[in-house]
Amino acid sequence: MSGIWPGNTKCVAMLTFDVDGVSSWLRRNPDFRFHPSLMSMAEYGPSIATPRILDLLDTYSIKASFYLPGYVAETHTDLVKEIVRRGHEVGHHGYLHESPASLSPREEQSVLEKGTDILTRLTGQRPLGYRAPGWELSERSVELLASQGFLYDSSLMGDDAPYILQGNTSHPLVEIPVHWLLDDAPHFVYAPAANRLGPLRTPDEVFNSWSSEFEGLYRYGRAFTLTMHPQHIGRPGRLLMLERLIRYIQGFPQVQFMRAVDVAQLWAKGPASAVTGGAVASAQAPAPPAPATVSVATAGERASPP
Ligand SMILES: [Zn+2]
Repeated sequence: MSGIWPGNTKCVAMLTFDVDGVSSWLRRNPDFRFHPSLMSMAEYGPSIATPRILDLLDTYSIKASFYLPGYVAETHTDLVKEIVRRGHEVGHHGYLHESPASLSPREEQSVLEKGTDILTRLTGQRPLGYRAPGWELSERSVELLASQGFLYDSSLMGDDAPYILQGNTSHPLVEIPVHWLLDDAPHFVYAPAANRLGPLRTPDEVFNSWSSEFEGLYRYGRAFTLTMHPQHIGRPGRLLMLERLIRYIQGFPQVQFMRAVDVAQLWAKGPASAVTGGAVASAQAPAPPAPATVSVATAGERASPP
């Protein structure tokens, strides 16, 4: 073993897809249901793009992670079952794409349970992974996720490899960190009805950005976690770019594509003695000096799997 990965693996790549469909737009503004063009653009994600993405992943024998809001799951039950049938992970992504930071404690718990119930019913197993809509956890989320039996979260940006979130929780939660740089939305979202006038970058521009970041993560032996939305990445020309990126990454030796849940399992098994120490990754922004009471889920330490 060299670096943080077992065996001779030098870098792990995780392809993740947030199948938001219409949920994120309806959460933003319920009146968007009266905008059929916007709704149809969003619905293209689960209806047209996701099946195509599943075929692309099969072509390269890659298993990936799909995060679904409960509303999207219960309105696309066959799709959820097909994602599972092909060996991919289904993770929790709210019910109607609610950012936990926007919810009261009672609402946050209710949304978490509702989404879990729907995904459990459709997939036959409780989701182990959670990704906060908008990547905005609340200050309570880490404790709540641990208490509800989740293995990992994928919403924070405190490192560029998995780390352990430690706090006042029943068990430590693994963090699979993300970053806006490795997200298709800032590059591709263009929705005038919602006043989202993104830059509409070309596939080549985005390929250059993502492949450059992969090169850096590979050099340092970290994790390449790409977050995509079928309604954005699923346009045909962009999918060809994703295919090109997969081939590019596969051209590097000792790279492994993994599902986020499998990486989290690996980290969860890591013995405490393997904690590398050094920089402390935080679940929250540094807080001002406070009285000497228990701080909730603010400290995380990077640990190596066995
Ligand atoms: Zn989302």
